Amino acid sequence: MAELGKVSMEKIVSLSQRRGFIFPSSEIYGGLQSCWDYGPLGVELKRNVKDAWWRSVVQERDDIAGLDASILMHPQTWAASGHLEGFADPLVECKNCHLRWRSDDLKDENCPECGGELTEPRLFNLMFKTFMGPLEEEANVVYLRPETAQGIFVNFQNVLNTTRKRLPFGIAQIGKAFRNEITTGNFIFRSREFEQMEIEYFVKPGTDEKWFNYWLEERRKWYLNLGIKKENIRLREHGQEELAHYARVCYDIDYQFPMGWAELEGIANRGDFDLVQHTKYSGKSLEYFDEETKEHFLPYIIEPSAGVDRSVLAFLCDAYDEDIAEGELRVVLRLHPDLAPVKAAVLPLSRREKLAELARQIYADLRQCWTVQYDDAQSIGRRYRRQDEIGTPFGITVDFQSLEDRQVTIRERDSLDQIRVPISELKATLAAKLSGESLFALPPGGSIWKQGENS
Ligand code: ATP
Repeated sequence: MAELGKVSMEKIVSLSQRRGFIFPSSEIYGGLQSCWDYGPLGVELKRNVKDAWWRSVVQERDDIAGLDASILMHPQTWAASGHLEGFADPLVECKNCHLRWRSDDLKDENCPECGGELTEPRLFNLMFKTFMGPLEEEANVVYLRPETAQGIFVNFQNVLNTTRKRLPFGIAQIGKAFRNEITTGNFIFRSREFEQMEIEYFVKPGTDEKWFNYWLEERRKWYLNLGIKKENIRLREHGQEELAHYARVCYDIDYQFPMGWAELEGIANRGDFDLVQHTKYSGKSLEYFDEETKEHFLPYIIEPSAGVDRSVLAFLCDAYDEDIAEGELRVVLRLHPDLAPVKAAVLPLSRREKLAELARQIYADLRQCWTVQYDDAQSIGRRYRRQDEIGTPFGITVDFQSLEDRQVTIRERDSLDQIRVPISELKATLAAKLSGESLFALPPGGSIWKQGENS
């Protein structure tokens, strides 16, 4: 058996399929390469990741506004952004580090970066092409966006005019992006359809370095606050040769995945590249007027660009653990409560009618606030195991004594400690514990319960 508690991609893929986090797309037809479907638990986890991001960058701030732009955009967008240019270039891609090279620039047969094997050269554009309207002709070509960022740039003036925000301010967006990647793999790490969470933060030129550093730290903290272990996160600066055409400086926030360190999020100082380009191609002025200094100028842009699916994968890998609990091997996802797909499970000790009735009432009540599961199948130990494996932070056990004293026990996933609380205090107690309060901070009438007392 593999080392106890050590995460591997096989274990994550197996857990994901076994418990309904992530399935291969169109699996009954043999799957569609590099596309994935989020199952009942995966969709909750993914939504929680997106909600946590939105809360931290939009809801809790007054300098960032949200946006949801369409996936199909005017084709000129991609001329302006530089995405169309690659069309005429024969490219090869390194099968190891995924850097792409123009084959005519290469001196030898291997990747100049890492020496890895290269794919055959082909005319390549990353963008998926489709047609708008009934005629499949060149004039009607549109593209599925390869990044959400451009939807933000083209709406810069709209948001500025309607929100009357002053610099520095940002626009945030979560949405699907599509890239016809040459090589895919590592489960949901690199796929052809994925979701991004992007902020474009507009600043006065000259203050860009300060804001770049600010966002680097802010975004790093976001992962740590949601439980990612410090030793699994690093910042990596792009070398000059690696910098994208639009970027002045770029750092990756890398995560130590089971296959090695890889990019989770990119943070770039894009300067005024995007607004210059869109001004040029649209003929519309995208300048900002500074009321104080009476100057007109194009803001610089700091871009923290994160992948939803890569974050989900990182949170799953980081939370994965195995230990011996209550005398048995258990798989446990130590997910942050904000991310856990199910916040609590209501577990009646028996299926007897009286007990089930009370447990059902509690279940109905808690569901008003959270995603909660009801499980009365098999032994209580088995049911705890099932919940541990999907990362449910709290188990609520309803036993025969509950009928007498109107109390239930709360079991904590990570410590296995238990407390007993009045049913009337359950909702408030659970709310406090889910927000990080210590289990042993007891509500009125609550008590510490000895481990295993009702199992
Ligand atoms: P990579 O070098 O890994 O291909 P990138 O540098 O091209 O990534 P960006 O263009 O900076 O990626 O996109 C921002 C974020 O979007 C990435 O940090 C990543 O989280 C996510 N992302 C990009 N491409 C994919 C993909 N094919 N599958 C899943 N997520 C992706």
